[in-house]
Amino acid sequence: MKNRTLIIGAGGVGRVVAHKCAMNAEIFGEITLASRTKSKCDAIASEIKDVVVKTAAVDADNTEELIELIKAVDASIVINVALPYQDLTIMDACIATGVDYLDTANYEHPDEAKFEYKEQWAKDADFKKAGIMGLLGSGFDPGVTNVFCAYAQKHYFDEIHTIDILDCNAGDHGYPFATNFNPEINLREVSAKGRYWENGEWIETEPMEIKMVWDYPEVGPKDSYLLYHEEMESLVKHIKGLKRIRFFMTFGESYLTHMKCLENVGMLGIEPVEHQGQKIVPIEFLKTLLPDPASLGPRTKGKTNIGIVAEGIKDGKKKKIYIYQVSDHEKCYKEVKSQAVSYTTGVPAMIGAKLMLEKVWYKEGVHNMEEFDPDPFMEELNTQGLPWQIKELE
Ligand code: NDP
Repeated sequence: MKNRTLIIGAGGVGRVVAHKCAMNAEIFGEITLASRTKSKCDAIASEIKDVVVKTAAVDADNTEELIELIKAVDASIVINVALPYQDLTIMDACIATGVDYLDTANYEHPDEAKFEYKEQWAKDADFKKAGIMGLLGSGFDPGVTNVFCAYAQKHYFDEIHTIDILDCNAGDHGYPFATNFNPEINLREVSAKGRYWENGEWIETEPMEIKMVWDYPEVGPKDSYLLYHEEMESLVKHIKGLKRIRFFMTFGESYLTHMKCLENVGMLGIEPVEHQGQKIVPIEFLKTLLPDPASLGPRTKGKTNIGIVAEGIKDGKKKKIYIYQVSDHEKCYKEVKSQAVSYTTGVPAMIGAKLMLEKVWYKEGVHNMEEFDPDPFMEELNTQGLPWQIKELE
């Protein structure tokens, strides 16, 4: 029977997912792209020449509307690449209709800058009862980074003791300040306190308190700052023997100075403020002013390099490896009209969905990426546009 794929969200990532699903149309079958603004879906659909991509309008905050759409499409799978705020409503609609679910970012409440898996994991029993699977965080980080950890565990270690996830975007879009994915999500993440996990405990740091310089292959040495990142929450549960896990992301001086200034004047606030008789949320207004991340594609040059360094024990000896993936912004844009940040998120979303539809990765309930055999995913990365490298450091 032919599959029917429903993609929700027509931003930078949605564009990549739509293109990549169309390139694998023998698996994804009939593809429908839905978002709040149908014209954005139509624009993406018109870029895809060889495959017909249907489009629809949906308010993904409204479970009833979603249920209607999923039924109308008769979807085999829902790929959620809208915003993290919509995760729960889309999951509920999947439970109601008995359709498999995948996303790339964990739930975050619009009124509280805190993201965690708790509410999504709590739906595990309902997913099992409905006989469906939910795959959480199938982007790059979370996503590929979780798979890299599972691959290291499977092939290189008896026990992994420490993991550092290292995320570098050395792209230059030529603007004094812009975010390369949704500004609200990005700025909330970056301005939050840092956190890492050591010896069974979460340790909190001030924002950007811990810095190191890492020499990223094909990019060079970059200032890298410790942040909290969501894949750590599931990895501490699933990687055996783990003693410490941290996440670092690169930021340039100029980006950090702009951000500090915006924060100091209150522009990153998420509480509504009164302005000339109207209520406005500062960070939402800022989003209106900043360049649309989707528009950065044609102007961004340079590379991304995201990977993990794992240290541990194999056959009684110490071992340290680095698994990483390098993408080139201009090359990504040439292929699917999106820069590398959207590309490196959208391709793994497509791969996760492909493995679910093929029943290569299939388990009822709600799951994280590292719970599955990493090998088929790692193979797909190599053939679908995200080839990776391994270096043995010790
Ligand atoms: P964008 O802001 O570019 O796009 C989001 C899309 O979601 C827009 O098309 C928007 O619709 C749509 N949307 C928002 N609210 C609703 C709603 N209520 N109903 C229907 N559609 C809605 O974001 P990105 O494409 O950059 O990111 C998409 C997702 O990917 C986010 O969840 C982000 O956190 C995640 N991400 C994950 C990464 C990873 O590595 N795991 C890395 C980068 C991003 P409209 O345009 O009509 O307003």
